[in-house]
Amino acid sequence: TAAKILSVQIVSYGDHQMLVLTRDVTQMEKLERMRRDFIANVSHELKTPLTVLTGFLETFRDLPLSPEQQHEYLNLMHTQASRMQNLVEDLLTLSALESAGTHKDGEAVDLSGLAQRCADEGIQLSAGKHDISVHVEPGLKTQGNQAELHSALSNIVTNAVRYTPEAGKIEIRLVRGQNDLGQPCNVFTVKDNGIGIAAEHIPRLTERFYRVDRSRSRESGGTGLGLAIVKHVVSRHDGELDIQSRPNVGSTFTICLPLLRASAAKAA
Ligand code: ADP
Repeated sequence: TAAKILSVQIVSYGDHQMLVLTRDVTQMEKLERMRRDFIANVSHELKTPLTVLTGFLETFRDLPLSPEQQHEYLNLMHTQASRMQNLVEDLLTLSALESAGTHKDGEAVDLSGLAQRCADEGIQLSAGKHDISVHVEPGLKTQGNQAELHSALSNIVTNAVRYTPEAGKIEIRLVRGQNDLGQPCNVFTVKDNGIGIAAEHIPRLTERFYRVDRSRSRESGGTGLGLAIVKHVVSRHDGELDIQSRPNVGSTFTICLPLLRASAAKAA
């Protein structure tokens, strides 16, 4: 990225005249720092499971193990390989999202069906450990990309299940409501009474690899990229993401998405 030019001056120097450009390199330095941090984060995230995996492989190779131990080691290795796979998949999703434009003219998407599907996936993931209530208004639609919207809604639901202790309450809703400007839109809300998030962390949650509690996120299979993906998907669909949370009280994640435009509805 070219640095912004702050001033242009002509300076006389003996018989010569010089053109002096003052550039603002702060933005360039910030981008460069972000790029370096990102590479360091990816390397670290891949290195950890790889180190554990290599350790298990060496034990497997060098020590006589009973069939039960072999089974246990294979399961542990599988967990580490899955972790790396999730990370690489999320990285690919994120890079595809960052490179393409918006979806304002995308296909008509059955948002009610999608919300119900994500709720069902959440119920399955919770495996009866939470009290999950679902209210999906039928017939709601938006325009855009179905797979991207699925990954955004399901990330929010999955997080609620992961960050809410057993027996906690989770409410999943999709209704026709209003955005901040009072315009009608589709409102998808996931409210939990889980661990919550302190105010200082909230603005940074959608940064890549930002986690409030690293070990808790890893334990539950998180990559730290989920909300970065959500933010990109929502903005590509001309929507809004809102996060309200209080530690030990719970969190409410809200996504507003435009209603289906008449022209897109006809084409569908
Ligand atoms: P992760 O893969 O770590 O879950 P995300 O980008 O999805 O990454 O979320 C970033 C962080 O936001 C999480 O590590 C967690 O600390 C916090 N978080 C997300 N959803 C919730 C929630 N429903 N309750 C409490 N904390 C949450």
